[in-house]
Amino acid sequence: MEIKQFSDVYGHKEIIGHLQTAVRTGEVSHAYLFDGEGGSGKRTLAQIFAMLLLCREKDLQALRPEPCGHCASCIKVSGGNHPDLIFVTHEKPNLISVDEIRTQVVETVPVRPYESPYKVYIIDDADKMNPQAQNALLKTLEEPPSYVVILLLSDNRDAMLPTVLSRCVSLSLRPLSNAAVVGYLTDEFHLSVREAELIASYAQGNIGRAKAAAMSGDFSSLLTGALRILTNIRKMGERDAIAAIADLAKEKQSVYEYLDVFTIWYRDVLLYKATKDPGGLTFRDKIEAIAEQAKLSSYEGLQAILSAIDKARIRLRANVNFETTMELLFLTMMEN
Ligand SMILES: [Zn+2]
Repeated sequence: MEIKQFSDVYGHKEIIGHLQTAVRTGEVSHAYLFDGEGGSGKRTLAQIFAMLLLCREKDLQALRPEPCGHCASCIKVSGGNHPDLIFVTHEKPNLISVDEIRTQVVETVPVRPYESPYKVYIIDDADKMNPQAQNALLKTLEEPPSYVVILLLSDNRDAMLPTVLSRCVSLSLRPLSNAAVVGYLTDEFHLSVREAELIASYAQGNIGRAKAAAMSGDFSSLLTGALRILTNIRKMGERDAIAAIADLAKEKQSVYEYLDVFTIWYRDVLLYKATKDPGGLTFRDKIEAIAEQAKLSSYEGLQAILSAIDKARIRLRANVNFETTMELLFLTMMEN
């Protein structure tokens, strides 16, 4: 199910139309910012755009040009070894340093493309450039050689300097409609509509999240398990909690999905507490349990739970002991 053309992408029609028009008319900008949360599809869009720019056999007469997928250039892009497509890498997970921008971008930009009219840079996690790195990039953005196209991918636009943003064409990826996600899941994964709707409500318009849930195989049983914990947590004693955590430990690889369901649930509770309106809730069909929790918990308590879930995610990523992390979280959920 590898995506190679814009027509394979679900949603984002406006952005795709903009990119195709730019290529067709030859009015390609020197820098684009693809902005959207993880899983929204910004990498996919940037890669297809890069492939289209570099494709040797694209049909520029077509209203909606696509990469051909079979020319020498497209094959190299698919194989990750096109000399005129540069993926900027960084060593530290949370930082792109000024040295990395200098050596991989600023110093290589003057070298003409080897075999294409364009030289394309993809800077993933662009918001992880510190201000010095962004300022180094800015010089390139101000006077780029005609062949350079820089694609910045970011899930946190606010971390970018206004001077950098002002040099980029900004493309914001919005969450897809529920119907689009349901369509994606039924077409690509052959799920039943009922199952697709369940996953779509969990995915909240995020196609990457929907894909991960669909690929995890038995998502409905995960959801049932998570909801069983959530609807019983306030009645649990210490022993029940330890038993529930022991069950979770058997599905450690799915723990982040469990935590996502927990977050959505408590956001529902918070929303319901504030509005008394079941309309906007993800878990509308569990309205009784949500109303009950909303009555028992204070606003502060719900906020404490939501930040405890975030903390649990961070601890697990940092390899803190699974049981210890979950016990702390469950305790916060039981007490608030
Ligand atoms: Zn091609």
